[in-house]
Amino acid sequence: MSTFSEVFKVTGARTESLAALPEPVHPLEDIFAAAEKNPGLDVEDAASLIAWAREPERRAEIHTAAQRVREQVAPHTVEFVIPVYLTSFCENECLYCGYRQSNALAERVRLSLDEFSRELDLILSWGHRQIELVLSEDPEFGPEVLARYVELTRRKLDRLGGGVVGLCSPVYECEDYVRLAAAGLEWVVEWQETYHRPHFDRWHVTGSPKRDFEYRLDLWDRVIPAGIRKIALGALLGLYDWRYDVLATIEHGNYLRRAYGLEPHAIGIPRLKPARGVLASQKPSRFTVPDDDYRLILSLYHLAFPRSRLFFNTRENYEMNISMVAAGDLFTVDCDTFPGGYLRNDTPGQFSTHGFPSRREVAGVFAARGLKSLYLDAETPLPAPDRPSSAVPPDVVKWREEHAKIRAALQDWQAILAGLVLHPGENLTDRQAALAALRMTMHFFKTYAMDHCRREEHAFSRTFAPSPDASAKLQAFRDEHERLGIDLDKFERQMTSYQLSGDPSVLLTVGERTIREVNEHLAGEEEFAARQFASRDSATGSR
Ligand code: SF4
Repeated sequence: MSTFSEVFKVTGARTESLAALPEPVHPLEDIFAAAEKNPGLDVEDAASLIAWAREPERRAEIHTAAQRVREQVAPHTVEFVIPVYLTSFCENECLYCGYRQSNALAERVRLSLDEFSRELDLILSWGHRQIELVLSEDPEFGPEVLARYVELTRRKLDRLGGGVVGLCSPVYECEDYVRLAAAGLEWVVEWQETYHRPHFDRWHVTGSPKRDFEYRLDLWDRVIPAGIRKIALGALLGLYDWRYDVLATIEHGNYLRRAYGLEPHAIGIPRLKPARGVLASQKPSRFTVPDDDYRLILSLYHLAFPRSRLFFNTRENYEMNISMVAAGDLFTVDCDTFPGGYLRNDTPGQFSTHGFPSRREVAGVFAARGLKSLYLDAETPLPAPDRPSSAVPPDVVKWREEHAKIRAALQDWQAILAGLVLHPGENLTDRQAALAALRMTMHFFKTYAMDHCRREEHAFSRTFAPSPDASAKLQAFRDEHERLGIDLDKFERQMTSYQLSGDPSVLLTVGERTIREVNEHLAGEEEFAARQFASRDSATGSR
């Protein structure tokens, strides 16, 4: 039997031309009739639907048909699911992700089994019974280590009367999935990100283990033989033309039906959203998926996979999700994408998420629609979790020392740039010496300075009461930290250009602007902190 990558090598080009189909090939009514008779869509019919959907009335008909087909086969339930992140260390460089290796702004945390156990107890106390364990490609968190976390989750769920353990992780070998299934894993979630090979290569920088396109494409050909038949596939919408990625996802699902006789357990519908320190995720691109097209995609998936669950997630706002979720889908309400984030509740995660109404309120909305909520039991409040105390004063002396150290490094950086003005680098030895010094400077800013920024954000938000003035200022400081992370990346890219060309002009522009902005930022923070301490002292009468 051929694996999916072997099949897709042949069919991928046809998918590309179907994604750009100028006119529908089949009548809309014929496609709907076929979908009602035999649930599912072949790729040609899906491409015709995309072409029909250019007309707004036809688009509306597609939504209605999707609802009808879905209602015929789906159970009257919505399943709750909650992600729990285990680690944010990652050796990949996926350019759209807040946990990419070079993102100096990302805080790196790896939960010990004890820490994970505490976090899990908290979310189980909220009533959640479907747990999705999530981890990045952390070399110290291989499948054998992971199996212990799966076992613990399984044991705790069993003690509470049952539940489900899912996993979103790096992709593994078949025998690893056998081990994880034995530990209690029931379903696996994995997005191909994009099925378009050239764009997959662009988004996953050379050296990233994840860059192996075929190995990822063939994931299900290793998972299913391992005995795990509940699988969730999909693409991250916004990395390439959504038409291509949606058709390829349908093709992948149809392959699984033919090869293994299974319906995907769930279909992923994530859209690319802003992540901290990730420039590529923050600007709209020609691949950004507008809301109206996003709704069409959900209807196409409901038609193509009427027995599968669409995986609604908090990348989208509540209004969007609640307007599109249907019987038989998966729904996330509580979502923190940082390891230990449910206990800490104060750290930016892998990407930005929306706040939702309480889980009970959402279950009430489903009940009013005649849908039963699954995997959400009654709450059993725990003692208040250990959160960092807001009474801990910041170590002001240490904080000032760190600012002084950063200022000294800015002066060194400025001196190296001044040297480049005098000796731009005609001489290869001079150029190499300047680049070596700049590398050390970048290392300092990406480690020491960024670490300072993260600790300072925590200390500031705990120390200064959330007055409207203070919270706007604190947000501005966080944005400036993020900008510094992005500017350091830009500066490093310019170092590579300079190394090749010997022309330092852009390097000088980016460097001088960054140095000026960081100096202003440090002064702004110090002035703000002095004002806050002064008003706090006058309020408490201390001297
Ligand atoms: S998408 Fe996953 S593998 Fe890629 S950088 Fe982010 S956490 Fe790592």
